[in-house]
Amino acid sequence: MTQRAYNFNAGPAALPLEVLQQAQEQFVDFQGIGMSIMEISHRSKQYEQVNNDTQALMKELLGIPAGYEVLFLQGGASTQFAMIPMNLLQAGQSAGYILTGSWADKAYKEAKLIGNVYAAASGEANGFTRMPGQQELTVQEQTAYIHLTSNETIAGSQFLQYPDTGSTPLIGDLSSDIMCRPVDVSQFAMIYAGAQKNLGPSGVTVVILREELLQNSPKHLPTMLRYDTHAKTKSLYNTPPVYSVYMVNLVLQWIKRNGGLTQMEQLNRSKTDLIYNAIDQSGGFYKGLVDPSSRSLMNITFALESDELEAKFIKESEKHGFVGLKGHRDVGHLRASTYNAVPYESCKALADFMKQFQQQNG
Ligand SMILES: *Cc1c(COP(=O)(O)O)cnc(C)c1O
Repeated sequence: MTQRAYNFNAGPAALPLEVLQQAQEQFVDFQGIGMSIMEISHRSKQYEQVNNDTQALMKELLGIPAGYEVLFLQGGASTQFAMIPMNLLQAGQSAGYILTGSWADKAYKEAKLIGNVYAAASGEANGFTRMPGQQELTVQEQTAYIHLTSNETIAGSQFLQYPDTGSTPLIGDLSSDIMCRPVDVSQFAMIYAGAQKNLGPSGVTVVILREELLQNSPKHLPTMLRYDTHAKTKSLYNTPPVYSVYMVNLVLQWIKRNGGLTQMEQLNRSKTDLIYNAIDQSGGFYKGLVDPSSRSLMNITFALESDELEAKFIKESEKHGFVGLKGHRDVGHLRASTYNAVPYESCKALADFMKQFQQQNG
């Protein structure tokens, strides 16, 4: 067996080894049909089963209540930045965006191309080092929806608790933290997530939305960009990303085998505790970039005293088999992404490496 890297990539990111091995076993011959899942019709009974099972597993693991649709779309979470206002923001209405960092800002700017938007809250004043609280939220009249980014993948911040928007629909981008912990889906009118961080490979975006939202799309909207098109056809209007959906299916089965979201959260907490403790107990050698109240379970961001020391950290980490610890090019510093599929052992190894690096350079 080849040595697996300590993979802390931000996205695409680590997948469970078990899932990769299972996919490998079925790669050439899916369920004894003499072909791979990629070589058969998306209307075959085999693929229909994969599609239905993946939907059912999403519902089961997230505890999605009745009255919601689960869609598998293409174009990434970034296409949702446009589809949301195109479908849900009517003339005479506006949409409120909770500005928490790079991803929220992208969603906000895209929506601005389509309709009236405003900042319902902003973390700009504190440099996006924590998520805004309930009392910082302003909801204007005629608001079609409030949009939030559950986990800011680049900054390393995460909502511990989502704001209550009352009767105004809440939409959440959960691209980098879906399934990392239990979530009360009923708080949201819609949740969406690109798969490539916590659900599988890139190529499919999961959209979970209340059925009543399907009724409002403007008549002129192109077919592929309408939620109702995909809801009516069980996400089989056109050829879906079959392999990505299949891989998501295997990842969801893996989550289920491992105890579901409660267990995922416990495991994620034990993993991130190791690394946050290494930061907090370093006497200032490592500096966390996010306020402890908003620290992410998925992306741990931290800094060292100088650029030179950070460069040395990355170089030495690579020699020890660590991958992906460089911060995002927009913010620099260091980042360890500890998604569901990143093993506890990788996090333990990183915490040990951090202590060793401090001893040698502190
Ligand atoms: C990665 C990411 C996106 C972008 O996803 P794409 O599928 O590449 O479009 C959007 N939002 C968040 C929070 C992300 O982490």
